Amino acid sequence: MSTFSELGLREEILSALADMGYETPSEIQQKAIPQVINSTDDLKAFAQTGTGKTAAFSLPIIQQIDPENNNVQAIILSPTRELAVQIGDQIQKFSKNIKGLKTVTVYGGASIEDQFRKLKKGAQIVVGTPGRTVDLISRRKLKLENIQWLVLDEADEMLNMGFKDDLDAVLEATPETKQTLLFSATFPKEVEAIARNYMYNPAEVEAGTKNTGSDNVSNEYYVVTERNRYAAIKRIADINPDIYGIIFCRTRRECQEVSEKLIADGYNADSLHGDLSQAQRDSVMQKFRNKNIQMLVATDVAARGLDVNNLTHVINHKLPDQNEAYTHRSGRTGRAGNKGVSIVLVTSREVGKLRPIERKIKKKFIKKDIPSGEEICKVQLFKLVEKVKETEINADGISGYLDNIYEQFEGLSREELIQKFISMEFNSFLEYYENAADINDTRSPRERDDRGKRRNDENMTRFFINIGRKDNLTPPRLMGLINDQNITNNVEIGQIEILDTFSFFELDKNFETETIDAFLNNAPEFEGRNVNVEITKKRRSGGGRGGDRRGGRRDTTPRGGRNDRNNRRDGDFRGRRRDNGAANNDPSRNRSNRVQNKSWGRKRD
Ligand code: AMP
Repeated sequence: MSTFSELGLREEILSALADMGYETPSEIQQKAIPQVINSTDDLKAFAQTGTGKTAAFSLPIIQQIDPENNNVQAIILSPTRELAVQIGDQIQKFSKNIKGLKTVTVYGGASIEDQFRKLKKGAQIVVGTPGRTVDLISRRKLKLENIQWLVLDEADEMLNMGFKDDLDAVLEATPETKQTLLFSATFPKEVEAIARNYMYNPAEVEAGTKNTGSDNVSNEYYVVTERNRYAAIKRIADINPDIYGIIFCRTRRECQEVSEKLIADGYNADSLHGDLSQAQRDSVMQKFRNKNIQMLVATDVAARGLDVNNLTHVINHKLPDQNEAYTHRSGRTGRAGNKGVSIVLVTSREVGKLRPIERKIKKKFIKKDIPSGEEICKVQLFKLVEKVKETEINADGISGYLDNIYEQFEGLSREELIQKFISMEFNSFLEYYENAADINDTRSPRERDDRGKRRNDENMTRFFINIGRKDNLTPPRLMGLINDQNITNNVEIGQIEILDTFSFFELDKNFETETIDAFLNNAPEFEGRNVNVEITKKRRSGGGRGGDRRGGRRDTTPRGGRNDRNNRRDGDFRGRRRDNGAANNDPSRNRSNRVQNKSWGRKRD
């Protein structure tokens, strides 16, 4: 194994690397650095995120830049602002001992005038996102006619994000004599086309095996019904109280929905997607890096900018549309020598979709069962016991009260005291999971297709409505009536049961209060009758669900919805959540989360 010095890097760079704690070059650095220093050939590098690729392309460029010439000599394109900023920051650190070397980072969503000014002052290296780079080129503020190096970082992502035209425009604005370095974790045909069209006889290097997942990642899957995806995430989080992970969603909406539910249920979660402003995204990412957020619900694109090496879990709420993306997702965990778990939630119909991914990652998925309530309670209970044992006694702080406290507890045995303390913390959690249904989908394909027998719908609430067949009510008319109440955007409607004089329908349980309020406020009529809607605790006829273990919860306080979450965006999440107990739609979460939070907090200390 070589050292950085043996790779041929100059002293100013070596001292900066030492200051940054870089001791040994990573595999991609060992391969790419000498190649780019010693040859002007183009380079195709297969490298996943987290392999040290930023230094792999930056160091040989910094080594060869002429700091006395103020013209742009290297342009580095990266898919997201976050990644561009990270690369720019790293280059500044690598080059801090090289006098006169300047780097400017340009990206959309920030003042273009500021970027004009910085470019005007002169910079040898420019890091940019494709759109803003093209903008600056077309305004003639960025001149690439004489550059020597062009780096396309995460080329597959840039193409996935629709930057093909921008890449073409930048490539056209650069001289043929430049050296192109193309870094990509995957090489789908679009990336190969860029290599073919714009690179001349490139050298190839790779770190790890192309398109395969890390050996440190265990790939696991759970089979659930569509409706129980969210319940499954809750259980996975509950059985892993120290979880620190990303939940990947395919769309912004999916992201928003999952994170809203998690927040309302009292978890340390937040979302990261393209609908947020840049300031909001920065703030969420910072909280996640600081571990103030345990679970980040993110779209593939938004998560690209995150540089976090110690995630315990990646959860695929739904499989990505493209198999390539699974490698990116799972590669967010198991980094820097840590072990990680990549979990996929699939419906029984989707199990077959795992096979092509297995071929790509060259590893088998392990089938796991969603933990039962009992298993979760056991884990949480022992976590609590461990926490009590580890709690330091603040002797000075409590000494003044102790005599009185001992007096109050007089007559209670040690066993009774322990039981009372544990019950105080744990009762509602136990109640929540007591009689919890098995949410693993073990149905045969025939049962699965029998829509009338849907089971285990933890996420739905059943409502009674005082109109029925005699009022000419049909399922489509009932759906129309529900939609007319504008409860919330696209609330999910579950099973509908029309009887003679009354009916039942199911709606997403997160919108119980909104549903009741909407019917009350709108006071709709149907065929001349005043419509009345109530939450019912009765199971539907023929339904397979057990007792209503959450019966008492239904008519509780209003819960945190969208507004609640928006408020939280700007404030201290933890503080607000605590004050917000009444807004949680699931009182048991307050308890369970206290268990989680405290253990989490201790870990941070
Ligand atoms: P990258 O793949 O460039 O995003 O790098 C992933 C992480 O590894 C970053 O936090 C880098 O600072 C760090 N890193 C990269 N190369 C090395 C190295 N040779 N020694 C120590 N840390 C490194």
